Amino acid sequence: MTQALFNNYKRRPVHLVKGQGTKVWDEAGKEYLDFVSGIAVLSLGHSNPILVEAMKEQSDKLWHVSNLFDNPEQEKLAASLVADTHLAHGFFCNSGTEANEAAIKLARKHTGKHKMITFLHSFHGRTFAAMSATGQEKVHAGFGPIVEKFEYLPFNDVAALQAAADEETAAIMLEVVQGEGGVNPVTAEFAEAIQAICDDKGILLIVDEVQTGIARTGTRYAWEQTALKPDIVSLAKGLGGGFPIGAMLATEALFDSFGPGTHGTTFGGNPMATHIAQTVIDTVFDQAFLADVETKSIYAKQQLAKALPNLQVRGMGLLLGIESPLPVAEVIQAAEEKGLLLVGAGETTVRLLPPLTVSNEEIDAAVAILKEILG
Ligand SMILES: *Cc1c(COP(=O)(O)O)cnc(C)c1O
Repeated sequence: MTQALFNNYKRRPVHLVKGQGTKVWDEAGKEYLDFVSGIAVLSLGHSNPILVEAMKEQSDKLWHVSNLFDNPEQEKLAASLVADTHLAHGFFCNSGTEANEAAIKLARKHTGKHKMITFLHSFHGRTFAAMSATGQEKVHAGFGPIVEKFEYLPFNDVAALQAAADEETAAIMLEVVQGEGGVNPVTAEFAEAIQAICDDKGILLIVDEVQTGIARTGTRYAWEQTALKPDIVSLAKGLGGGFPIGAMLATEALFDSFGPGTHGTTFGGNPMATHIAQTVIDTVFDQAFLADVETKSIYAKQQLAKALPNLQVRGMGLLLGIESPLPVAEVIQAAEEKGLLLVGAGETTVRLLPPLTVSNEEIDAAVAILKEILG
């Protein structure tokens, strides 16, 4: 077959042309419930009028300004992201992998150490350092020597972590719920152990909230529901509600390690991205909005438990995974035929990532389709 595009994605033959809220339509006019949301990106659903308005408003004023100049919108967005947390500063980039790249560089620069502990089945991105941080061999395959000194430990294994974390360790890096790796939440015991080890040994803690952050788990950040108190946090996916933006947040203590000229990006945090992300944050960081995400999470878990009593459902907030007895690709295909878009996670998990604005009726409809396939 001749094609102009690289073949690096296994694309499904669905050509979506329109979206509204949780619903999308393909070329032929077929309607689907979108429980992929661009992989946890469309936090406020498709074509949300608030975001459409924000985008139009900013596009009439100013699209791009170099980071050589003042940027009050970036300052405001950083302040909103760290407000009422122990974090103090933010840096903006364009994606999750870039946010992690910044996090890894900052941790190395600040500590002068190079060893980093990450976990098997983690996913941190596709650039060299973020790929090297990722504890999955298939992500490294074929690219030659990776960035040095990442050690991959089994997730939720306190003894393995105690044995590996030492004075040479710059940072421990984890996802609160491993998203791509199978919807595996950190246990309370492991989160406590990580924090204790970091405090004891002066190791920095990097929490990758690229998928779990920005209200996806029912709190602003997923670490808020654990004993983890990260020094550095990476964000992307849901932050722009569909407009590309990433961010790295860190504590006051790390401020001086990213001085002028140490790190940067041309596009990062441009006025379009920051204005739209600010609109997302102003909406989803509202207490009532967060409480509603949690209520819908509980509802979805209850309905799934009723419909599929024999299957394990894991996750937090509206990042849920069903352990599938059928091959995941088959479940995804069958759901697609019935008008429900899903994405896999790991080898055996079907992942549900509806927009945070999903309704109970839409959850019911999705659960009914899942019951037909898996029940
Ligand atoms: C998606 C993801 C990334 C990579 O983000 P990109 O924007 O695709 O670079 C990193 N970490 C986690 C946890 C992710 O889910």
